[in-house]
Amino acid sequence: MRLQDPVTELRGVGPKKAEALSKLHIETVEDLIRLLPRTYEDRRQVTPIAQLEAGKTVTVMGRVEKLIDNYYRRGRKQMLRVLVSDETGALDILFFNARFLKRAFQVGRTYAFYGTVTETGRGRSLVHPQFTPAEEREEGILPIYPLTRGISQREMRAWQRLAEEVYPQIEEDLPEEIIDGEFTDGGLMDPASALRNLHFPEDRESYLRAKYRMIFDELFVLQTGILAVRNRSSAGRGIAFSREPVEEEYISSMPFPLTGAQRRVVKEIMDDLVSERAMNRLVQGDVGSGKTAVAQIAMYKAVRSGYQAVLMAPTEILARQHYQGIREDFSRHGIEVGFLSGSMKAAERRQVLEGLCDGSIHVLVGTHAVIQPEVSFKRLGLVITDEQHRFGVDQRIRLREKGGDSSEEPNVLVMTATPIPRTLAVVLYGDLDISVIDEMPPGRTPIATRSTDESHREDCYRFAQRQMEQGRQVYVVTPLIEESDSMDVRSAEAVAEELSTRFDGRHGCGFFCVALLHGNMKQAEKDRIMEEFHDGQIDLLVSTVVIEVGINVPNATVMIMENAERFGLAQMHQLRGRVGRGTSKSFCFLISQGSSEVARQRGEIMEKSTDGFFIAEEDLKLRGPGDIFGTRQHGLPALYIADLVRHAEILQEAREKAQKLVKEDPELSRPEHAPLRSRVLRLFGGELSLDL
Ligand code: ADP
Ligand code: MG
Repeated sequence: MRLQDPVTELRGVGPKKAEALSKLHIETVEDLIRLLPRTYEDRRQVTPIAQLEAGKTVTVMGRVEKLIDNYYRRGRKQMLRVLVSDETGALDILFFNARFLKRAFQVGRTYAFYGTVTETGRGRSLVHPQFTPAEEREEGILPIYPLTRGISQREMRAWQRLAEEVYPQIEEDLPEEIIDGEFTDGGLMDPASALRNLHFPEDRESYLRAKYRMIFDELFVLQTGILAVRNRSSAGRGIAFSREPVEEEYISSMPFPLTGAQRRVVKEIMDDLVSERAMNRLVQGDVGSGKTAVAQIAMYKAVRSGYQAVLMAPTEILARQHYQGIREDFSRHGIEVGFLSGSMKAAERRQVLEGLCDGSIHVLVGTHAVIQPEVSFKRLGLVITDEQHRFGVDQRIRLREKGGDSSEEPNVLVMTATPIPRTLAVVLYGDLDISVIDEMPPGRTPIATRSTDESHREDCYRFAQRQMEQGRQVYVVTPLIEESDSMDVRSAEAVAEELSTRFDGRHGCGFFCVALLHGNMKQAEKDRIMEEFHDGQIDLLVSTVVIEVGINVPNATVMIMENAERFGLAQMHQLRGRVGRGTSKSFCFLISQGSSEVARQRGEIMEKSTDGFFIAEEDLKLRGPGDIFGTRQHGLPALYIADLVRHAEILQEAREKAQKLVKEDPELSRPEHAPLRSRVLRLFGGELSLDL
């Protein structure tokens, strides 16, 4: 048997089983052995019935004494009781709504049961354990595979055993210099032994070493790929801006002094901008930390150096807001700012495109529309994307390629308000240098946050009303636009209707203008509402998460989140950042449905902290990284065994080794790196069109 043989080469795999296996993306014998167990069951020991403890997962060998079939009309529940015994005692095995199992047991025969002991009113029992006749029992540490319909664990284990024959054909594909390097515990296990120990662990130590090998392997290849891309991104000569400190005149014209963190980041950016190497930098900073101000300084520098700059934002609302602010500010300096979005009239659009071509527009602000093929610049020198987590790596590269056919690449600046924990940033943005604005402009008081439930909604509304009476404005955010089948969610439409009625003046509450904003509205409608809210004509805005990013209305002081349990922590933090942007004290109420332990913990974190980085770390702990960042949207391949949070240390180790290797062989072109190179290409596939 060969690694690349089809699975049907294995005894017991016919066309039908092969079809089921293909659902797991298993076509070849190699695919099969690379399907790793998701967990293991320890079936080495049999526990005598007398020694069972509630909560423990055990194997019990019991002789079936009696089968009792109960049917509870009231609860429409059917329960099968199997009474079993061994030399030490008797035990109830319970199955609910599984009457067919009656036929699976023979009185007088002994079975092996595997399950968790529960304490019921009548003593200890096993509920829905796995079972087999005693003579067919599998012993040892059993791997449990992620499976699909039509394949049993038993079958999969048998096939994995048969496939052991091909292990000697598995070759080491990490370069020798990596394997021979320093490792924490006794070197890197070879891949064949690692696979064998993951499928059929011999002992704990070998299992741990096997797992380490696979995790390191995965993270190392990933990091090598990312760093090779970075290499490619910055291989070309960058556009160097004027060495004169032209930005100083702009900085001194700003209405406020920069914070220390802003000054530091501006310096990091300026150093990049005047150098011959293209800038490739991520600026991370909490909502309101003043990233836009920093971006404007960079744009000013570009324009004064004779280049154009483009800023791309993920939503039309945000793009327009940036446009208005930047245009107003730059007009005083004689800098022409243009706008592009998908919803523009053809004539307007043509005018902007012309302005970009002939260089009369110096700065372009827009949505994804700015990366359309028709858009070309006269002399693009700086590319900025805001809220990077919404764009993929390839989009960033496409935007950079707008620099035209000049051999010099434009500088790239990426801004994100989603505070990404360092461990993740390193992976997600491995191809970027990172700057952090970790200080807020002075005069901000932290937003007072209360996590609460239904029963306090009325109090929240009354509080909001008092704030509106003082001339302040309020946001109410809901997860959904319309009423849906899942009943427990308050939709934006329903909430808006309820609150308009409440505040229409007829109910003695005073008159306040309530409006609704959601993503399905026409652009013009959204713009009008945002404008009216901005100008204070709307007092209370009910909205879906479209207001999430960047909206700036300093007079808004109350944020109420409905169904807070439906938002991620990082997202709640973003939403909360819509208030507290002025000098008045701001408030945030999180109204959750239900009362799970996780919901309580989340509420507590939000009440305790307004530090986006801390919240992001906690979010990561509670939810795991896959949830927060669909790796797809980053153009990164999904990880199979490694976990970026739990394996942060291995990640660091893999990263250091990958850095060293890529530095010595940037194209991975040395013959001894060929197997690694082909793995990197396979891993990234078309996603990054990584033409090394
Ligand atoms: P971000 O883009 O990081 O969310 P912004 O750049 O929009 O933050 O800044 C938020 C608000 O703070 C804006 O109103 C901006 O004018 C103001 N701001 C920025 N930097 C400073 C500073 N150094 N001192 C005072 N206010 C500042
Ligand atoms: Mg911003």
